[in-house]
Amino acid sequence: MANFTIRPINTGFVPTYPKQYHYHHSVHAYIEGIKDEKEPLPVLTFLLEGNGYRILVDAGMCWTERANKYHHPGSWQAPGEAIFEQLEKINIPCDSINYVIFTHMHWDHTFYLDHFTKAIFIAHEREYAFALDPIPLYYKSYEHPFLGITRPFEGKKIDTIQGETEIVEGVRCFESFGHSPGHMSIEVDTLNGRYICGGDSAFRLRNFEPIPEIGYTVTPPARFADIIETWKSLEITKERAESIDHILLSHETSLYESLSARPIIGA
Ligand SMILES: [Zn+2]
Repeated sequence: MANFTIRPINTGFVPTYPKQYHYHHSVHAYIEGIKDEKEPLPVLTFLLEGNGYRILVDAGMCWTERANKYHHPGSWQAPGEAIFEQLEKINIPCDSINYVIFTHMHWDHTFYLDHFTKAIFIAHEREYAFALDPIPLYYKSYEHPFLGITRPFEGKKIDTIQGETEIVEGVRCFESFGHSPGHMSIEVDTLNGRYICGGDSAFRLRNFEPIPEIGYTVTPPARFADIIETWKSLEITKERAESIDHILLSHETSLYESLSARPIIGA
């Protein structure tokens, strides 16, 4: 059995309104203290190492100026926070990355791909098709050429998959649609059990908890391409996870805050 370690790496911060993003309006009355002001969320990627492989789950966000201009005002990527700089700091050459797996292809998950000269890029086939030809509502999310800019994955060969797919022994992708049309989550075997890199299938771990008063099995987020698929993905992920603590989300502040105490998961 192949065991991997998981190293979360932060690539910047994106401010969002919790009421508009993290929690669907129907649950606001059941959650205490949801802020109505912007809260900066981390933008995490995950380096998986094991069995002779180095795999990156998402490549993170772009530089501050671009993030502010085309995406969320107030976003920032501090000096040294770009994914290639972060990998340099821990002595991981970008050309030693074997695979970059995209949970989805939004702008904050797909930058600096030129550095990964030997990697195979992998996305769900539904996601890649939509990323190339989104409805205009999502032009910014995927940095469509309509905006007059070059999208981060332009010219890259993207290998597409569907259904449940084992990338290498110990690393499996499964469909968790909803946040975007072809969103995937990545399940990773470690010495401390199976972890799930859940991308943006949820924004907060709280999204996986039930609200019995209204019969909700989960607490849906407010930002999605399809709420029914989002709901089902929350249920599927929760069912699959060994525990809620085994779900690693791209924008979960508590995970970011735990990094200094636990830089490597599954060791
Ligand atoms: Zn994201």
